[in-house]
Amino acid sequence: TLDKEKASNVAKIKVVVRKRPLNKKELAKNEEDIIDTESNSLVVHETKLKVDLTEYVEKHEFVFDAVLNEEVSNDEVYRETVEPIIPIIFQRTKATCFAYGQTGSGKTYTMKPLPLRASRDILRLMHHTYRNQGFQLFVSFFEIYGGKLFDLLNERKKLCMREDGKQQVCIVGLQEYRVSDVETIKELIEKGNATRSTGTTGANEESSRSHAILQLAIKRSTDGSDSKPARVIGKLSFIDLAGSERGADTTDNDKQTRMEGAEINKSLLALKECIRALDNDQVHIPFRGSKLTEVLRDSFVGNSRTVMISCISPSSGCCEHTLNTLRYADRVK
Ligand code: ADP
Ligand code: MG
Repeated sequence: TLDKEKASNVAKIKVVVRKRPLNKKELAKNEEDIIDTESNSLVVHETKLKVDLTEYVEKHEFVFDAVLNEEVSNDEVYRETVEPIIPIIFQRTKATCFAYGQTGSGKTYTMKPLPLRASRDILRLMHHTYRNQGFQLFVSFFEIYGGKLFDLLNERKKLCMREDGKQQVCIVGLQEYRVSDVETIKELIEKGNATRSTGTTGANEESSRSHAILQLAIKRSTDGSDSKPARVIGKLSFIDLAGSERGADTTDNDKQTRMEGAEINKSLLALKECIRALDNDQVHIPFRGSKLTEVLRDSFVGNSRTVMISCISPSSGCCEHTLNTLRYADRVK
C-alpha cells in the first residue's frame, strides 16, 4: 500500500525547465543573461525595437512545475525529475523523461548522467526491497534519425518496427542486454553514446538531428524465479530529442536537411499532442503522427508518467529559440 500511495503522489505529467550558465562564447560576445528564475517560474526579458529604432524590453512570464537555475547540479536534476519515479516502475508503470530544447541548450549534458543514476537506484531496489522476487533489468539504446531506427548497442544496425497482435510495438532485432551490476550498465551507456551519430561542425552536428532513446525495462519471470521467461513490468525511457530549432529546417537548400527538418518538426508536434492527450485522459492518443511517438506507444498507454525537461540558454542571442522552447513546454502542461 505504501508503494501504491507513492505512485499516486507522482504527477502524470511534470514539466521542468533547466537554464544553463552563459558559456565562454556568449560572454566573449558580451551577450547578456536575460532570464530571471524563481523556484517554479521565470521571466524572459526580450529586447525589441520600436519603429523609431529605440529599444524597449518586453517581459514574458512562465510558470512550470519547477525551474532549475544555472547553479543546479545534475544530481539535483536527478532528484527533482527521475528519482520519484523509480519505485513506481516496479508497480507496472511506464515512465518517460524527455529533454527538449535548441541545439546547445544542455539536453545531452542533462540527460547523459540520468540513466546510470536511475540504474543504480533500480538495482538497489532489486537487490534489497525486491530481493528474490524474480525482477530483472534490461537496457537498450537506439536512435531515430531521418525517421529510421538504429541500434546504438549493435553497431548502428538499422532496425524495423512491427506491431504484434496485442498492439504492442516491437522493434525487430533491437539488442537488449540483461544487466545486474552498475559497471556493466556504465559500459553499455558509454558504448551507445560513442555510437551516436556525431558530425564535426558545432551547430550542424548530426546528433542535433536525431532522437536518442535509452530504455531501462524491468521484467519479471512468470513464476517469480530466475529461470522462466520474463515479462515487462515497468519501463523507464530517457529521450535526448533532436534540437528543436531543427524542425524549422524545412526551407533549407539541401534536400536531405529539408527532409530531416520536416521529420523532426512532425515528431515534436506529435509528441506534444500525445502528452496533451495523456494529460486530458483522452482515450485516443495520436501515436501515428511520427516514428518517435509510434516507438513510444507502449509508454503512453495504461499507467504512465512523463517528465519533460526543457533546456534553455540564458543568452540574449538565443531569445527567440528560448521563447519557442518555453511556449512548447507551456502547451504540454
Ligand atoms: P545540446 O545537447 O542541447 O545540444 P549540450 O548538452 O551539448 O547541448 O550542451 C552544450 C554545451 O553547454 C556543452 O559544452 C555542455 O557541457 C554545456 N552545458 C550545458 N548545460 C550546462 C550546465 N547546466 N552547466 C554547465 N555546462 C553546461
Ligand atoms: Mg546534444
